[in-house]
Amino acid sequence: MKTVMMATLLSFPPLVAKAAESCQVRLILFTPTDVAVPDGYQQRINQIVTYTESFYQQGLKRWGHTKFVSPFRRTDAGDAEILLVKGQHPKAHYKDATVRHEAIATAQTQYQLEDVGLQVWWIMVYIGDPPARFRVFRGAFDPKSGGWSVCNYDSRQGEIDPRDELGDELPTALTLKAMIHELGHGFQLPHIGPQLKDESGNSLMGPTHASYRRVAGNREKRVYLTEAAAAMLSTHPAFRGAVDTRGRTLPRPTVDDLTYSAPRGQQQMIVRGRVRCEVAPKFALVADLSEVQPGEYWTKTYAGDIAADGTFEVTVTEPAPADGKLIVWFVFANGDHTGDGRQRGRRSGIEHKYRFVNGHFHP
Ligand SMILES: [Zn+2]
Repeated sequence: MKTVMMATLLSFPPLVAKAAESCQVRLILFTPTDVAVPDGYQQRINQIVTYTESFYQQGLKRWGHTKFVSPFRRTDAGDAEILLVKGQHPKAHYKDATVRHEAIATAQTQYQLEDVGLQVWWIMVYIGDPPARFRVFRGAFDPKSGGWSVCNYDSRQGEIDPRDELGDELPTALTLKAMIHELGHGFQLPHIGPQLKDESGNSLMGPTHASYRRVAGNREKRVYLTEAAAAMLSTHPAFRGAVDTRGRTLPRPTVDDLTYSAPRGQQQMIVRGRVRCEVAPKFALVADLSEVQPGEYWTKTYAGDIAADGTFEVTVTEPAPADGKLIVWFVFANGDHTGDGRQRGRRSGIEHKYRFVNGHFHP
């Protein structure tokens, strides 16, 4: 099949372009020139992918999302598909997240992926056995190259049990939460803090295990996917099995009748409004940036459905007793996130300050 396609491409190069493929996670194991590929990497990465897939699936199901596909690729034998990429420099050269440019470009050439459309690149960098460790963990969405995330590959002994919590010993040693967190940024998730009412411990897009435990004053091991993160993921092309059609232009929402209220006697705020757009808006998101939250990782974020007529209502159920601001933005059917049609994500949202006086919220 491949031979036929190649022949076609060679015969008619100006006329035939490879069609964009569905957006999926493309996993790269990257090694510098002076580091050999680690023993046992296939088995370890199989375990990482299985764990991550199950983490996201359970989170989506918990919040009522039923129509989604796995964004991960497997071979016919059932192994996680791994793109082995050798760098052009020794390990001392690779010091930051720009390693992704070389890793993605080499993978695209080596595996003929130049024309497959936007993908989510999960780049694991291996620079030697522990204590050697690639220290950079980053991830984001780039409308030119797709989602990307960079993390360390840890070769230590052990098997990840699918029943392990992310805060258990081996997952913690492997920094598995950070790996899946950065992949979350690759899926365009922002930082989202845990909510007490969820009773599930720390959130994937929240603080580190250590930071969470310090603030919570316990030894919590559990990590979960928040409702807002699940809403965002449910529209991502990789979870819909779709081609990523997001480009440099964004949907341009028009927002009317935006109101903020605080029901008397309840420690809550309610955001209501109506949004219209040429691309169907799916969820309204409200981030609550409280002046007393321990850091940006703790930003509680709420999601609400958008009705056919564009109306929505989102309840901020756990505001801290302090001043703060609410930020409203939207997730669209094509996976785009914007509030103003000019920028992506939370920073494009509509901001609204509130005050907390004498035990009452004044939005
Ligand atoms: Zn992060």
